[in-house]
Amino acid sequence: MLHKIQLTMTIIFSLGILMVAIVVTGLTLSSSNTTLRQQVSVLVSANSKQLELNIDNYIREVQQKAALLFSSEEYYGYDPLDTTLDDYKKLQREKAINEKIVDLGIMENFSDFGIIYSDESTIGWISQVTKAMFPKGGMYETFAKTIQNPQTSDGWSFGINGNYDRLYYTKRLNPHALVVASIYNRELESVFEFPKALNDMTVRLVNADDQILYSSRQREVSTMLPEHIVSLLSGVESGSVMDSEYLVTKDSCQNGWHVICTISVESMTRENSIAAQKTILIVACICCVLILGGIFVYTVFNRSVSGIVTDLNDKASHDLMTGLLNKASFESFVTNEIAAVSETQVSSFIMLDLDNFKKVNDQLGHSVGDEVIIRMAKLLQNAFTENVLIGRMGGDEFAIYRNYPELSFEEANEMAHDEIHHLYNCFKREFEKERDICQISVSSGIYLMDKGKYHFEDVYKRADSALYEAKRSGKARPNYVS
Ligand code: GH3
Ligand code: MG
Repeated sequence: MLHKIQLTMTIIFSLGILMVAIVVTGLTLSSSNTTLRQQVSVLVSANSKQLELNIDNYIREVQQKAALLFSSEEYYGYDPLDTTLDDYKKLQREKAINEKIVDLGIMENFSDFGIIYSDESTIGWISQVTKAMFPKGGMYETFAKTIQNPQTSDGWSFGINGNYDRLYYTKRLNPHALVVASIYNRELESVFEFPKALNDMTVRLVNADDQILYSSRQREVSTMLPEHIVSLLSGVESGSVMDSEYLVTKDSCQNGWHVICTISVESMTRENSIAAQKTILIVACICCVLILGGIFVYTVFNRSVSGIVTDLNDKASHDLMTGLLNKASFESFVTNEIAAVSETQVSSFIMLDLDNFKKVNDQLGHSVGDEVIIRMAKLLQNAFTENVLIGRMGGDEFAIYRNYPELSFEEANEMAHDEIHHLYNCFKREFEKERDICQISVSSGIYLMDKGKYHFEDVYKRADSALYEAKRSGKARPNYVS
């Protein structure tokens, strides 16, 4: 019962520690996860805005360079088809325009920077790659169509005649002339640099049709923005959206392009997952230590409590003065023993009482009387060592239940006589002095039982009557009955 309570307490204690550990760890991790998400979200949004400002600057720079050709009518007003100009004047004008373009010193920044006239002639730097895109002509017409903004008469275009390497800027100079500038979209890498902390982020530049003009995943260029991102961003002009898988931000450039940054939620919380694993490991170790500590304390406590309980049980079942079984426990043990072996073994039940014991008390004192009782108990324990239960029934009265395994009734009878004889001899030796002073002796009733069914009460009565008979017939003797 006590063990059960202790075991239950240990299990409850262990479960309690585990529950607390799980709840505390869960709350800590979920709050740190949320905080980390918020931090990454803010970082990505700020970064996306910065990239949009960078690309706006870049676009503005290209546009401003082109606009510099409007500094003089000499540059923007020229029309090679103007019949009022003779060849010399034409050459003069074209030379001046060319020099202006070279002066701007911009050829190193652009893949193309020049003027295309309605007769397909060009001034400045219109690359062979661009010209080769129009083997059958139509260059002027094509670029003229890329002008989308009627107010500023300019526009940005991508994928002209299947060229996905360059982004083109076109601006009308006059009804017969267009200034065309282009940049390699790969060059935008320097514009789209972002912090290493956001390594797993994908940055894309898309046009109004969601076609990818630049991507940190190079092979995506010219494809359409992935469907799940488009649907996540539907209805969003600028800002950030997050679902269970991705955080996506969108920022709009002045020319209608958009900067779109994407980062997976998993990668946002990856560092936290590592931290979480470490936290769980540490908490598990602490739990193990606490539980093992609990089990250790339980074992120590259990041992001492078990000791106390055994001690108490011992005290409850034994006579404190002699250490023999007390009357109640003797009765209970003998009842069980009779039930277990009486049908298969010969046994005996002996009642003993000291004769004239009161004289010891009277003449030698009560404490000597106590000592005599204790010595008598020792004597009995020494005389009967095997297959025996010895009890103090009260005062100077003792009882013995003895089995004789493997012996026949006759053999047991003989052995019982020998043992009792030996006991009486020992008694005489032990209490020589007391016998002289107080004339103490021992009377006993011995009931010898053949194999069979017996009950404690009957057996006790038979031995007790035999003892009474021994007393009545003069004391100091054993009286055998069977
Ligand atoms: P009998 O020969 O008829 O047996 O008489 P007796 O003098 O031995 O006395 P009896 O057996 O009738 O009673 C036992 C006495 O032992 C009674 C009581 O005064 C005394 N006694 C009982 N218990 C104790 C004990 O623990 N210590 C001591 N010193 N005396 C006890
Ligand atoms: Mg007596």
